[in-house]
Amino acid sequence: MALTLIYLPTPAGAQDTTIKSRREAELLVPRPGRESVKSLNGRTDALDTLDTADPFIKILLFPDYTWKYWKDPRYARDNKLFNEYWTHDKPDPYGVGLSELPDEIALWIVDTLSSYRCPVIGAPSSKFGYRHRRRHQGVDIPLQTGTPVYSAFDGRVRISKYHSGYGNLVVVRHDNGLETFYAHLSKIYVEDDEWVDAGSIIGLGGSTGRSTGPHLHFETRYKGYAFDPEWLIDFPTGTLRHRLFVLKKRYLNASSKYVPESEQEEIDIMEGDEQDRQEAIRKAEEEKKAAAKARAKKAAAATQYHTIRKGDTLGAIARRYHTTVRNLCRLNGISEKTILRPGRKLRVR
Ligand SMILES: [Zn+2]
Repeated sequence: MALTLIYLPTPAGAQDTTIKSRREAELLVPRPGRESVKSLNGRTDALDTLDTADPFIKILLFPDYTWKYWKDPRYARDNKLFNEYWTHDKPDPYGVGLSELPDEIALWIVDTLSSYRCPVIGAPSSKFGYRHRRRHQGVDIPLQTGTPVYSAFDGRVRISKYHSGYGNLVVVRHDNGLETFYAHLSKIYVEDDEWVDAGSIIGLGGSTGRSTGPHLHFETRYKGYAFDPEWLIDFPTGTLRHRLFVLKKRYLNASSKYVPESEQEEIDIMEGDEQDRQEAIRKAEEEKKAAAKARAKKAAAATQYHTIRKGDTLGAIARRYHTTVRNLCRLNGISEKTILRPGRKLRVR
């Protein structure tokens, strides 16, 4: 078949197709774009694997004559991310305070070397947020017991055990620090510390634990804090919404539900307007204060006194300081008839 040509040496005289420059390579590697990413349904069974210069990067060949780069998730095995706060039981091993997290966290969800598969495609039967005053930290996707459940991204299994609430639970930690939770499984197919790819079957859907019917309870967490998975995934189509996702701190809260982008823009604009308004008020007040201070300073600088000497008259003082008798009277609260006592200070300006 056509793919075997890859193994043949370049025939003499044929055009040399070896990639020689980084620029050429970039033309071939699909770079991150703004478009959403389709779930890689049916693209998990590679026909063949080719080595590259990097031992952790392979080229996978698929039956439909397509190919893609594949990054061995074990390349990250020495990364602190997969060694620190690494427990096999606690859903939240971090115990980090929200105040310690930045307001915005930019996360690469997929890049040129990683992929994505929707864990289970379907319309959520229960969304993220408060439900009968109980926090619901994920989305529920109905399924038939026995349906394969896929790891959404590459990563390493942190938890694979029965939990009273979650039932059979698998938690996978990913390169970007995110963790995904897969709960109520009827079967678990992975073990603690196992490396998985996006699209690896981590278990089968079910209704174990606190569940009223077969469904996948799916959570996305950052540093132990859950946020609405719908920020990332459109479950009815299985599409990933972002390659680069800006996780805002305010999403890390059970009352912060996903808002479609178009509406979110309006909210941002309104919030932006309000911020601009507050900023403008603050600036205007500052300017007003500064102006008053400047006026006072100017007035202080302009104020001038004359110490009355024997023989001084208001008329003579007025002429000397280029002002009027009336002005002198007004500035000092005196009348033209007031007796000028030597040594007294008279304001002249
Ligand atoms: Zn649930």
